[in-house]
Amino acid sequence: MIMWSRSFGKATLAVAFVTGLAAQTPPATLHFGFSPDASRRQDEIESILQEKIAPARIEEHLRWLTSRPHRTGTEGARITADYLLERLREYGFETELVRYDAYLPAPVSVAIDMLEPTRETIPTTEDRIEGDPFTAHVGEHPGWNGYSASGDVTAQVVYAHHGSVEDFEALEEMGVDFHGKIVLLRYYDTGEGRKVANAERFGASAVLLYADPEQDGFPFGDVYPKGNWRPPGAIMRRSVEFLPYAGDPLSPGWASVPGARRLSLEEVKLPGIPVVPISSRSAETLLRHIAGPPAPLDWQGALPLTYRIGPGPAKLRVQAQMDNRDRPMWNVIGRLPGETAPDQWVGLGNHHDAWIFGAGDPSSGTAALLELCRSLGELAREGHRPRRTLVVAFWDAEEMLLGGSTEWVEEHSEELLEKAVAYINMDSAVFNTERPLSVAAHPVLHRLFRDVARDIKDPRTGKSLFEAWRDLQNQFRRVPGVDGWGEFFDPERELERPHVFEAPYDDAAPFFNHLALPSSDMYYGADYGMYHSIYENFHWMKTVVDPEFVYHALMASLQGRVALRLANADVPPLDYVTEADYWRMAYRDLEAIAAGRGQEVPGIAEAKELIERWDAEARSLEGELTEALAAGRDMNALARPYYLASRDFLRPAEISHYASRNLFSGDTLDEGVSGSTLPGIRFALDKDDLEKARQESEIYLVALRRRAESLAALRRALR
Ligand SMILES: [Zn+2]
Repeated sequence: MIMWSRSFGKATLAVAFVTGLAAQTPPATLHFGFSPDASRRQDEIESILQEKIAPARIEEHLRWLTSRPHRTGTEGARITADYLLERLREYGFETELVRYDAYLPAPVSVAIDMLEPTRETIPTTEDRIEGDPFTAHVGEHPGWNGYSASGDVTAQVVYAHHGSVEDFEALEEMGVDFHGKIVLLRYYDTGEGRKVANAERFGASAVLLYADPEQDGFPFGDVYPKGNWRPPGAIMRRSVEFLPYAGDPLSPGWASVPGARRLSLEEVKLPGIPVVPISSRSAETLLRHIAGPPAPLDWQGALPLTYRIGPGPAKLRVQAQMDNRDRPMWNVIGRLPGETAPDQWVGLGNHHDAWIFGAGDPSSGTAALLELCRSLGELAREGHRPRRTLVVAFWDAEEMLLGGSTEWVEEHSEELLEKAVAYINMDSAVFNTERPLSVAAHPVLHRLFRDVARDIKDPRTGKSLFEAWRDLQNQFRRVPGVDGWGEFFDPERELERPHVFEAPYDDAAPFFNHLALPSSDMYYGADYGMYHSIYENFHWMKTVVDPEFVYHALMASLQGRVALRLANADVPPLDYVTEADYWRMAYRDLEAIAAGRGQEVPGIAEAKELIERWDAEARSLEGELTEALAAGRDMNALARPYYLASRDFLRPAEISHYASRNLFSGDTLDEGVSGSTLPGIRFALDKDDLEKARQESEIYLVALRRRAESLAALRRALR
């Protein structure tokens, strides 16, 4: 029996064994889910793909895509969608332009004036930078926040750190009354929507948001235009809506196709106060005029002064006028029908809307995916059409509310549950080549990403992408999704695991949260300082980040190879063994949290037993599959039930009262609880609702029994 080594992903085949089956060159390695023959063919296809992906073409796409602002709801976004549609058609894809409507924000004007203790206009636009032509018209692109309310507020300012409930409560204890005040908050840590909702709840009349250099500025290195960190004049833009669902605010849970039923605005809680982002330089100006007691030590940032709480004496007038209303969103969908299993889909995606020029987010990913599509189209014409159908999507309105992807997932949920093998998102390709690759994925995909990364060469070090990834992660102590634990880290170096699991974000989230589908998201170097500023433009990409576009090409290759393994494997390479590890860890984690409060996790003994049964079944299945594949057995009938087993942890629709139907991981709007594992039981225990926890535990046990049984059924089918 051949086993893939758990620690290295794939096994080296005994040459004598292979030569007996297939002549000529045996594959150096056997890809997970592939027969030796198919594995060899896959290597050939991937090396052709690698040669086809041209950095220069990605550069040309990026130049085009960033030549105009392309925010959702604007002419720029529509022109961009048309360009993508044309390219996909040209590359041989079946194409479709899909419209949904959404209640989308847009700015009319923003202004901030300090009235006391000195009169001063606080800039709402960014600095022009010599040599960067994209900053010539900074005045046309003020900083603003998506879903800010319109308003005109005059009041004193309070500095309230990150704006968590704890922050506000701490200030209240210090005697601060927020009623009617303007609150200065830092970005990061908690989601912006939650910060604004908290501020509103504590009585604030407006919010100003800024990114402190402590989190993405000069302490990390040179700022733009010299380096990749946020200059003092940069403004970060973000959407601040805070709803228990993504997508169009007026059609929760159903697709907002033209003419669909929509809620009225009164039924939806959008921010009720103006929210405006400012630069850290402007924040410094305000902080110089905020007196009162010093803020706690861990609230101090990197600006060269003592951060104080206020209120005042700084008194501001904040004006924001918005034009929030229904606008169309345009998704671009392309299909490359599969050769032998057209009803099994592998999705690839990116979004095309940007805050302004979006050279990193998202257009680096758009350009890379376009070049990947061209290469895939060519491969198909040359006789290497994938076994399963590739569905490519360029989504609209990601920045505001994951709009295009959510509506599409809502419209196609039944079909997706039947057909989708996996969805591989690349929100953006490259931000910072000196920071590690980030991949957040459903546990069944982790091994695939590691395997593929071993077969790609890192352009800088000449090592494999996998090694470069691991080295940078060890260096920066960054613990994101795929490699968050286990073998990936250098075991010699101690590393605290900050959380059990990182859920796929961006446009992978609707697939993962709503349908619990195998899905993932990725970008190279998540940490950088240009995020959602006017400096995230072609000049920055070309002079600071990836001048030769080789990392763009690397990311196209990663997305393409992962998708092609899923599309061409005899049995889709979903790894149910690693998934059992994650569940084991999640229960252990929950048990520890509950024990800390003197609670018990209901049903935990049976859950643990079921996970061990699942683990044993999954390991046996994997071994038997490997043998069957090595023996050249036809797996066509098994492929579908194999990937359908990944649906075992979809919460039944009728008891889906959370933002997520994924039993493994989810969000709630409850304060302090965002993405966490085993959300059903966890949130009930958080509220000390033991009856609810027991009911939830039953739902989990049913799903765990189902999992052990579906793997056993796959083994029976294999025999
Ligand atoms: Zn993005």
